[in-house]
Amino acid sequence: MKSLFCILMACIMLAGTASLANAQNPLGGVLDLIKVSRERDGVIQLPIRFHIVRGAEMTKKGVALEMWLTPEDVRERILPEINRIWQPAGIQWVIESVVEDDIAQVRGRRRLVEDISVATRETSDRTTKIRKLIDVPSHHPAIHNVYFFPYVGETTQGFATFGGSRSVGENPDGGNHCVMGVWTDKPSRAKKPPQRFKMSEGLPFKRGSIGRTCAHELGHNLLLQHPDKETQTVFDRVMGGRRPGYALTPEEIKLARTVAVGRAKTIVKWARKRR
Ligand SMILES: [Zn+2]
Repeated sequence: MKSLFCILMACIMLAGTASLANAQNPLGGVLDLIKVSRERDGVIQLPIRFHIVRGAEMTKKGVALEMWLTPEDVRERILPEINRIWQPAGIQWVIESVVEDDIAQVRGRRRLVEDISVATRETSDRTTKIRKLIDVPSHHPAIHNVYFFPYVGETTQGFATFGGSRSVGENPDGGNHCVMGVWTDKPSRAKKPPQRFKMSEGLPFKRGSIGRTCAHELGHNLLLQHPDKETQTVFDRVMGGRRPGYALTPEEIKLARTVAVGRAKTIVKWARKRR
């Protein structure tokens, strides 16, 4: 019985080692971060901590916007969509963990949540207010943090940080967090109440999904910007513009990979100090 237990444990440990190559399994600690954050056979792997934010439920046009997303949804539906989109760039996102957070216990938090429920794209302090609510202790200082919030404002599906600056020279590892709404009213241009945002859509692009928005916002983290709608000649792009879709241009891939390498180095440096 004891030996069976040992064999079982050995199998579990072996499975644990193998999971480093599996983008959907959580990582153990700083040593795993060192192992994962690197380039292998041309593929740059970057760890992400996903945060499912609770306590920011709000009502909009009679619909209760609850947090319906589960950790399984993130692992089984959203991450595969993100990685499908980023695969042509040779960038693979690996789940460090999926944590369920309560909103930050800041003063006036209910008021902040209500303000977001009526915010539009023109509401200038919308993202500042959301950032106050997601300023949680589980924010990882080095790796990417993706926050799922019920709703992030009228016709908006997400937003991201660029980091300190938009030039690679000054900002070699980009930004490290972005926020996504799990309810959207973008398809109706806010004429109808928000609906649950699809987790993934696959091909062809119609309305997009949480997975595509994540891929887009992670693109901003890697310093990619929106194409200029007036002058763009390449369409079907994950970074938006006219006739959006899933494609990354060769220039975008080059820039994103440069920034991703910088980010991976920063993570390894951070983790080595904490071994
Ligand atoms: Zn954008």
